[in-house]
Amino acid sequence: MAKTPINPSDKAKGNVERLITNYCKNSGTTTHPDKDVTEGVALGLAHHIDTLGRPLCPCRFYPDKTEEIKHRTWICPCDDMTVYKYCHCLLFVTAEGLPITEYLPADHEGRSTYGEVKDPTPDKGRALRGKAAEREIERANRKS
Ligand code: SF4
Repeated sequence: MAKTPINPSDKAKGNVERLITNYCKNSGTTTHPDKDVTEGVALGLAHHIDTLGRPLCPCRFYPDKTEEIKHRTWICPCDDMTVYKYCHCLLFVTAEGLPITEYLPADHEGRSTYGEVKDPTPDKGRALRGKAAEREIERANRKS
């Protein structure tokens, strides 16, 4: 059966647009050069705002989304972004459309997928950079 296309509200789409614009500016990242990539992620985030009340990352599987939003781990911008500046959805990337992987732990899937991608604006973003140890404990416990 064909999947029903998601159709978020204008309000949620506006919220996500502002989130993306502001976070690109604050983090020194850019949206993906392929507009379809950005649009797909933005629609998913807006859908989650409409259905869950929070911009839960749309690029992951959650056994229980209502349970998941009690943690801030995958609320956009997620912990991987605010700690490591890594966006696995490719929403916040370099001008070449690559996710920044420079700060990820060596065993992180982002490093094996993309190799080392340097941060072109190291003076920006990573507001929670001091929480890497906590993030790693959580990542090991939750396997994500
Ligand atoms: S990976 Fe993180 S920063 Fe990227 S879209 Fe998902 S929640 Fe947002």
